[in-house]
Amino acid sequence: MSARSELASLVVHNIGELVTNVAGTGAGGPLGLRRRAAVLIEQGEVVWVGPTGDAPAADRRIDAGGAAVLPGFVDSHAHLVFAGDRAAEFAARMAGQPYTGGGIRTTVGATRAASDEELRATVRRLRAEALRQGTTTIEIKSGYGLTVADEARSLRIAAEFSRETTFLGAHVVPTEYADRPDEYVGLVCGPMLAAAAPYARWIDVFCERGAFDADHARTILACGQALGLGVRVHANQLGPGPGVRLGVELGAASVDHCTHLTEADIEALASTRMADGQTATVATLLPGAEFSTRSPYPQARRLLDAGVTVALATDCNPGSSYTSSMPFCIALAVREMGMTPAEAVWAATAGGARALRRDDIGVLRPGARADLIILDAPSHLHLAYRPGVPLIRQVLHNGVPR
Ligand SMILES: [Zn+2]
Repeated sequence: MSARSELASLVVHNIGELVTNVAGTGAGGPLGLRRRAAVLIEQGEVVWVGPTGDAPAADRRIDAGGAAVLPGFVDSHAHLVFAGDRAAEFAARMAGQPYTGGGIRTTVGATRAASDEELRATVRRLRAEALRQGTTTIEIKSGYGLTVADEARSLRIAAEFSRETTFLGAHVVPTEYADRPDEYVGLVCGPMLAAAAPYARWIDVFCERGAFDADHARTILACGQALGLGVRVHANQLGPGPGVRLGVELGAASVDHCTHLTEADIEALASTRMADGQTATVATLLPGAEFSTRSPYPQARRLLDAGVTVALATDCNPGSSYTSSMPFCIALAVREMGMTPAEAVWAATAGGARALRRDDIGVLRPGARADLIILDAPSHLHLAYRPGVPLIRQVLHNGVPR
């Protein structure tokens, strides 16, 4: 698409069901559903939302044909900068071997050996794959380099594809530092962070037994905060632990996985509730990881009933969740985690935006980015109701049909 078409006005009309995520609009509670609606887009922004009969004139029109339209998915947790794959490890797991996270080191070896162009090609391929499935914003983490140079180049490449980039030098302690974890933490907080920070908006730590304990995680996250990076935490995935409460303590935008939660963890998250009813720290659930490791799913219902804001994301990575499909995650959340279809769709759009502290995406209202999905279905319900079916008819990204 040329820059010229981005500047032209475009109206999407004859929308049967529009998910705005503007609570108090029409029906559907937080989804803010409008029937027989239209959306006017100019210069990549939504400038008007209203009844289709009142749709203003525009240079270009797209007839939604009565289909459902929703904000583009916001995938707030993905690891796209890597080389190689771990299909054999997946097969072994499905044959009964447990997941320990140790396979991360396999990908680290392959990533270090890859050229910049190989890494870039993988990110480009997965970014395109996600976009075809309706993802218009994707967060991209480093974490398979684990040297100063390899983490910096991972983020430099990630930043070519997304402004939501996250430094995850503290993914695991690499083999060469296995008996010197304190030294590795010093490297992460010092030269590695300094080299990575210019390309990163966020800092993240895998706070888990076998990765980084609470003291190391706190040290690393505080160093990132001191350089202006926002905090995210891989927390409570493989067992109960300190990650969720550490994230709350540090004002994290999101704690991710949340598979093993105590009441104290849930209370800590609920205590971050703000005036708008959302929690400042979002619980981001990644059911692709439980699917691909054949593990028990997070208990979304407990979080939602406690008033905690929930996001859904893919955790796309070659080891524990090699899916880029947000519709797949929505279906899992509904079938396996006790979420309603409406809750899951909200979590995959507005929830992801919250987890990235963004108010210009995950929502369709004047001033929002014109990122939207036209479904091959009359309702958002079909995303969970028709699992595995390619329902994304068309994606508009920054107002441009893809
Ligand atoms: Zn992850």
